[in-house]
Parts: sequence; C-alpha cells; structure tokens
Amino acid sequence: MIDDGILKRLDRVQGMGRSDDDLLDSIKASDALIERRLTLRLDSGKRVQVICWRCQHSHLLGPCKGGLRFHPDVSEEEVRSLAFKMTLKTALLGLPLGGAKGGVPIDGSALSVHERERLCRAWTRAFISDIGPNKDIPAPDVGCGPEEMAWIRDEYEQLMGKSVPHVVTGKPSALGGLNLRDGATARGGKRVLDKLRDKLGLTQEEPTVIVQGFGKVGGQIASLLAKDGYRIIGVSDSSGSLRKSEGFDVDDLLAVKEQGKSFSGLDNELEAEGGEPDAILTDECDLLVPAALGGQIHQDNADDIKASVILELANDAVSADADEVLAKRDIRLVPDILANAGGVLASYHEWLAGKAGHEVVVETAEKSLDDIIDRAADRAWHMHKRAEVSLQTACYALAVEHLQQVARCRGLA
Ligand code: GLU
Repeated sequence: MIDDGILKRLDRVQGMGRSDDDLLDSIKASDALIERRLTLRLDSGKRVQVICWRCQHSHLLGPCKGGLRFHPDVSEEEVRSLAFKMTLKTALLGLPLGGAKGGVPIDGSALSVHERERLCRAWTRAFISDIGPNKDIPAPDVGCGPEEMAWIRDEYEQLMGKSVPHVVTGKPSALGGLNLRDGATARGGKRVLDKLRDKLGLTQEEPTVIVQGFGKVGGQIASLLAKDGYRIIGVSDSSGSLRKSEGFDVDDLLAVKEQGKSFSGLDNELEAEGGEPDAILTDECDLLVPAALGGQIHQDNADDIKASVILELANDAVSADADEVLAKRDIRLVPDILANAGGVLASYHEWLAGKAGHEVVVETAEKSLDDIIDRAADRAWHMHKRAEVSLQTACYALAVEHLQQVARCRGLA
C-alpha cells in the first residue's frame, strides 16, 4: 500500500466530489512491485546481497517512467509512494508516460567507481525483463546520475544485442542525454515561480530565499534565483547550515561544493553564521526551497515555518500532516509534482529523441519544457482559486481528472 500521506491527499481530492471513487480506489494500488536480489562483488572480493525494488505504479498513460534511487534508507514503501507520485506528475503534465520508481538500499558514495559500475550492471541483469523503452524507462534519482544511466544502457544493449538508447534517460550528453544549461529540475522550478510569482505574493523587490540541500538541484536553483534578483540568505547541506542576511554570492557556494567541501565549519571563510543543518528551515524568509530528501517539513516543525512560500523541489519534502498546517497558516506550497516536474519533462524529450533516432535538440526541449510547465501552473492556479482548495490539492485533482479521462477512453472506468 502507498503511504498514509498520499491517501490523505487523495481523500482531499475525493472531498471535492469531482472524481470517480472506483478510479481513486484503483490508483491506490500499484500495477507491479518487483523485488530482486542482487549480488554485488566489492573490490575486496567480498560479496554482498542487496534486495532492490522497482515499483511500476501505472501503465494507464503509457510506459512507466521514473528514477532509480540509491540511498541506504530507501524502503519498499517509499518506492511505492514515489512511483505513485510519478504517475501524478506525468498526468498533471499530460505526458504519455506512467509512474515508476526504483530503490537500491545502498550508499553509492561509499562505493568505488568499479563497484558502482558492477552494481548497475547487476541491477540491469536482474531487471532485464521488467525495463525497456516501451515498458519502463529508468532515470537518475537521489544518489544516482548520468554515469549510472550509461552503465545501465550499455549492459542492456549488450544483453539485447541491439542499440536501445531510450531504455534510460538522464544519460551523459555524449550518449544522447539531454543536459539543459540550468539543469532540468531547477529550470522547471524557476519557471513555475516566474509564472506564479505575483500570484504567490513574491512581489518584494529582492525576495529572500533559503535553500535546504545544496546538491546539484539546490545549487542550480540558488544560482537561477540569484541571477533574477532573489537574495539567498540561507543554505544548508547534510553537515550544517550557513546564514547571511545581506545574501551570499552563489558562485562562492558553488565553488565550495566543487571542491567537495561541506558547509560545516565554513562560517568564517564565507563570512556567514553557521548552524545545524535543519536550523535554517524555520528562519524568516520569503521563499523556502527544500531541495534535499523527503520528510523535511513535518508535523513538529510546520508551525514554526516562517516562509510565505515553499517551492517543494525535493519529492515529498513536506509531509501530509504538515501541508494541512501550512495551508491553515496561509503558507503557499508549490507541490513537488509541479515544482520538480522539469526533471521528467527533460527525460520525456530525451526518450522521444531516442525513439525517433535523432539527436535531442536542447532549444526545442527547453521551449517545450517551459510551455508545459506554464500550462500546468496556470491550470493548477485556476483550479486552486475556482475550487477553493490548496494549490497542492488542485494539482492532485487535475492529475486524477486526467487519469480518469484516459481510463474512460480505454474503457476502464
Ligand atoms: N527522478 C526524477 C523525478 O522524480 C526524474 C524521473 C524521470 O525523469 O524519469 O521526477
């Protein structure tokens, strides 16, 4: 079963009285939850067993699509919920793709490059009959990147004995990957803000921003926002947080990350105030951007959030209990399925290009990404106002409506 948080959100959609109860019930279950055991040979010669999951939540819209997460805490339940979210995301955007997610409970950063390669190849062999360009197309997620996708593609092609570039997305550009200049997820998140900025009340001349999590996506969104006149006054990574009321020069922060350093202990070097990683979440700011892992804003800190807008770049950064509190406190939440949709939109273009057998054109993909985000943001805002529900419930309701329409056309509802 998917987690209670998603069920609560679906109940809110049901409460709007616009959706078919049977369809809502049917999408609560996943089409398939595949569990496989891999054997990974470490450089020391030792062999370890790893149980992995791939959840294919729904094939209703088309082949399943979703990331592969390498994280020691990833669980079967999390994979199910994240796969469900992918279905909602692709439905909200109107893409011909269903939702999936994979989880490998391992800390990829603790492995050598050879170990990671062996892991990806073993993963591909284990899931060879489950994935495919018209079946289920993996992409990077937390702890996984272009390198992993390159190994998966290579192993898949060797086993199939033919070229299948679109079996994965998020590949290195030399292998047909679409690497947008600003990063797809950050670009999409910034585009939603551009579209809704006035409506969200971000009308200050220099809105103040806190970015929690400064990996690739966090760094890219900070950079885009700073270039557009936002002031980045707080940042954090898993080791610590830094605050600076006059605002950071984002290039300094990016340089620190490029050198592989963490924020803890860098207060003097960056002339900032240091603190615990989570401390900045409840600081005063206009815009809070959680860009790390899920579950960061929860029942115990939701009452203390002082931001007026939250852009949920990390999947599931806000728990369902917390979003109720935020809505009551009039804090606007731009939900993950809209805020981070740029990632799967870029994947969609990479997949299409592979399918058609031509190179992916960056400019065309960027223009389409912007247009699709604009349309989804507009429709979500309209529904939010018209139905007097939160922006998150509006996004869920639009996604469910689309699934319902497709199910009817297929004769399934
Ligand atoms: N991992 C990203 C997400 O959660 C992208 C998935 C994909 O492109 O398939 O949206």
